[in-house]
Amino acid sequence: LERDAIFRKQHNIHVSGYNVPSPLQSFDELKSRYRCPSYLLRNLKELGFREPTPIQRQTIPVLLDGRECFACAPTGSGKTLAFVCPMLMKLKDPEKGGIRAVILCHTRELSAQIFRECKKLAKRKKFGIKLMTKSLLRNADFSKFPCDILISTPLRLRLAIKKKKIDLSRVEYLVLDESDKLFEPELFKQIASVLKACSNPSIIRSLFSATLPDFVEDRARELMHDAVRVIVGRKNM
Ligand code: ADP
Ligand code: MG
Repeated sequence: LERDAIFRKQHNIHVSGYNVPSPLQSFDELKSRYRCPSYLLRNLKELGFREPTPIQRQTIPVLLDGRECFACAPTGSGKTLAFVCPMLMKLKDPEKGGIRAVILCHTRELSAQIFRECKKLAKRKKFGIKLMTKSLLRNADFSKFPCDILISTPLRLRLAIKKKKIDLSRVEYLVLDESDKLFEPELFKQIASVLKACSNPSIIRSLFSATLPDFVEDRARELMHDAVRVIVGRKNM
């Protein structure tokens, strides 16, 4: 659509892929277009988020439409909300049947930060959101405690998989945050075992990062089907 093209240009959003959904004009559109539950709209308001950032405007509708995507936008541009918001909407309600969403990131600090952001956005909704800490890895019986969303580094998650402590076969959403870091050769081996353990054929994968070097784009294309590519600003800032 002509209107979408103009709007994307105004916000410096570049897309490729077929049938890319229209970018969000506002957070209110989450309600009118996607029946966003009121707890989430309220949390966005309370956090003081008035307008979606460019990356949020485009990747939220892409993920809500069930498309895979790889996205690149500068540091500080709100990528966490861009994947957590559609994830919460897609998960709808807490369940007890196993892990349904996994967010991978390359450092423990970053995973703790994403964990906190997830909790804030999910406030008033009793989702099981877990951070894979050392003690959790050592002690938890993952089959016995409710966990909708798990946030981990690849190293710890791979350990849990190796020890057969965790079942990822029900995972519907997998996010690789800072994927340029995750796809560095040493980490990629660990990622590979996570990808294998997430065996649900209808899984939706997404990649987010601040830069999109060619090797990340190559991996993304190998990994995903009909993915939408979203770039805000320039590819290698
Ligand atoms: P990135 O992952 O792209 O580096 P973050 O997800 O860490 O960025 O977000 C950076 C900051 O912007 C955070 O403090 C976050 O709470 C805030 N933020 C996210 N989305 C919005 C928004 N729509 N409006 C205002 N602030 C936002
Ligand atoms: Mg980030």
